[in-house]
Parts: sequence; structure tokens; C-alpha cells
Amino acid sequence: MNHAAAAPAPQTETDLNLDPYWMPFTHNRYFKRQRPLDRLLVSAEGAYYTTVEGQRLFDCLSGLWCSSLGHRHPHIVQAVKTQLDKADYIPAFQVASPDSFRLAERIAAVAPGSLNRVFFTNSGSEAVDTALKIAVAYHRLRGEASRTRIIGREKGYHGVGLGGISAGGMVANRKMFAPLMIPGVDHLPHTHNLKEMAFSRGQPAWGAHLADELERLVALHDASTIAAVIVEPMQGSVGVVVPPLGYLQRLREICDKHGILLIFDEVICGFGRMGDWFGAQAFGVTPDLITFAKCVNNGTVPMGGVIATDAIYDAFMQGPDYMVELFHGYTYSAHALAVAAAHATLDLLHAEAVPQRFAELGRKIGDAVHGLKGEPNVVDIRNCGAAAAVELAPLPGQPGLRGLRLFEEGLKRGLLLRFTGDTVAMAPPVITTDAELDHMIEGVRACIRAVA
Ligand code: PLP
Repeated sequence: MNHAAAAPAPQTETDLNLDPYWMPFTHNRYFKRQRPLDRLLVSAEGAYYTTVEGQRLFDCLSGLWCSSLGHRHPHIVQAVKTQLDKADYIPAFQVASPDSFRLAERIAAVAPGSLNRVFFTNSGSEAVDTALKIAVAYHRLRGEASRTRIIGREKGYHGVGLGGISAGGMVANRKMFAPLMIPGVDHLPHTHNLKEMAFSRGQPAWGAHLADELERLVALHDASTIAAVIVEPMQGSVGVVVPPLGYLQRLREICDKHGILLIFDEVICGFGRMGDWFGAQAFGVTPDLITFAKCVNNGTVPMGGVIATDAIYDAFMQGPDYMVELFHGYTYSAHALAVAAAHATLDLLHAEAVPQRFAELGRKIGDAVHGLKGEPNVVDIRNCGAAAAVELAPLPGQPGLRGLRLFEEGLKRGLLLRFTGDTVAMAPPVITTDAELDHMIEGVRACIRAVA
């Protein structure tokens, strides 16, 4: 194909060619048939997106859980522009920018316990696969090479890498790829139980005993085969599934007892959303590895990473000095623009006490969202930190359709909602005003009635 022919013809949005772009996690055929102009977003500011038609949409999920400070904060925008004027790309293998070291130091400073070592990736999925590789290699380095098994959890979401979908427990994400998955995973039961905990406010009182299933898996496989347990402290992607009181503590105890590493996948929980820096602090449990992404730089430039304890890092630091200790890394690890955006984001998280403000916003969201109890088809309402979800009973034989309709009703009312199955999740930016919160909750109420 010659280059002149490849240059796209000028288009207006209404004659946009939708065919070549294979949209991720989207009903492509439905989207392309509908040609929904209210789903073509062209700009973002604060808590709002603007569509090609000029309609403003309130951002009910902070992008995809990532733009927690709202969009285009001037401090972050300026930091990225300034970085671009200095250097666009700086490799991370054998050389580094001083700002990457400073960023790792700042992230370690807000992480719990001895989680002081930061490895940068470009996404949550890469962070998860990195953490799993570190866990397996750690045991091998300590002379326990048989510890390769990973224990995840049903309904867990750990991104889309082969490690992440293996440890993850969302059936739709796994079943097409089964032969490619890493072997030797097993899964804890999920903690999403409508019969026992529907409409719990915050952490459910029921369910800590489900962590004891880990003892059963240890007995089944033997501790000597298990490298790590990975869970999201609060499960965002599956629709705000909140850990039962005492559940994470129990997992920690069992992992300690059997020498198993505990990994918290904090891609959603990290950097404030749970009302503390990490879910680890919010729930009072310190894991051995934390994965992060999203809010580390407000979703401005792709970035993720893993925070490891000193003990894990130290286990790798052996052999001759000229040898690479961990054969792992990404071309864009610690990308200069992502690092700049993360520094600016951390400035704001500290200066504006964002974790505390999320705790406060979370209390308001909790009060407001539980007021939706009794609306048609609502079978559960959950809240945790500054996140909440409303679950609807599925239409018989058509799971997910009610969620999709609800999303479309939201657009009509100026709300960009996020649905997963028939559950709508809400995690608005920290700048959300009382009036906007009210608009969101009342909008969701109207949508629920409209799809009834
Ligand atoms: N882990 C968790 C807990 C997530 O919620 C997500 C994304 O939502 C991921 C991993 C994957 O992150 P990414 O989409 O950046 O690869």
C-alpha cells in the first residue's frame, strides 16, 4: 500500500469509518451498528467528558477508575508538557532518569510496612504478570523451586495478561484462552453472596470464614507447591465486591503459616480510592507485593508497577554484580511522561489530602447509594471507600442486557456510567460536589426505573 493511499481521508464524525478499530471490551457489532455519537468522546475537563455532539457527560467512574482527581488538572498537564520539552523517551534498561528513582522513593514512602522496592510497568495487567513472576522466582531463589502454584479467587480480575487471566476468576475472560494459560493455578471461592450479605453497608459482617478455604487448597496441593495468593482487596471490576470483615486478615494469617506470599492487586484500590493510600492500609493488612496502575498518575499516561518488600528484593540481589538480577522489564517501564505525571499526581494527593477526601466522599456516596434500595429489580447495593455499585436482577435468559440498557439511559441523562453484567459501578472523581453526587444518584434512580 503506498503512503498517499494510506493517509486517512478527512472525515466528519458522522461518516467516521468505524470498521478498522477493534474496540477492547466492547460489543463491537452493536456499537458499530448503532453508531452512537453520544459515545464518541472528544474532550475532558474536571469531572466531565464532552461528546462529539457537544453533550457533557458526568464521569461516574473517573474514566476507568483512573482519573481520580478529575481530568486535565493544570498541575499534571504542566508537568507533562515540561517533561516533553526536556526529554520524550528515556530507556529504563541500564540507564534511568533521576526522576524515576525519586518516584520510586515517593511511592515506597506511602506504601505500608517494608514494601520499599518499586518495579515499573505500563499497565495493571503487566503489573500483575510481573508480580506473579517475582513471586515464583523469589521462591526459586530461596531454594523452593517447587513453589510455582498461584491461588487466585473466583470472580477476581487481574487484567488480561496470560498470568492475570490464569489467576483471575472472571469466566468470560478465561474460557476462550484456556490452553494458553499458565498451569497450576487454583481459586478461592468468591465472596459475593447475595443471600448472606445483600445491602451490607461497607464491609459485610458475613464471610470471613471463606478465607479458610485457603487451608483446604493448601491441604490439597501442599504448601510446598504454592508460591502466592493474589486478591484484590476491594474488587472493582466485578462490581465493587467488598471484603468481608476479617477476611483479608485471615488470608494473611494462613499465608504466613505456610510461607505463601500474599499479593494485593491494588490497580483500583491504590492511591486514595479506599480512603487511605492503599487498600492495605484501609483494611489493615500488609501484603508482600502490591500491584498498582491507574491513579498513580491520574490515568494521564499509561503506568503501572509492583511494590515489593525489602525481603523479596534482597532475595534477588545475589550473584555477581555484573549480572542482571531479574530478567524482566518493558521498553516503556518508567516512561518519562508517565513519571512526570505521577510526580505531579503525588504532589496533589499529598497537598490536597486526597485519601482523606476520598474517605469523606465515600461516606456521602454510601449514604446516597443505599437510598436506591427498593427501586425496581435492585437486588444488592454495595459501597466501599469512594466506590459503590447497584446490582440489578438480570433479564431472564439475557444476562448483561439490563446493564447495557442502564448505561444507555445514563447517556441520555448526561451520565457516563460503567456497567459490568447487570451491575452499575460508581467511583466519581474526588472533586465531585454534593450537587453532582445528587445528580448521579438521582440519575441512576431514573435509569433503573426506565429499564424496569
Ligand atoms: N488488576 C485489577 C484489579 C484491575 O481492576 C485491572 C483493570 O481494571 C487490571 C488489573 C488491569 O489493568 P490494565 O487494564 O491497566 O491492564
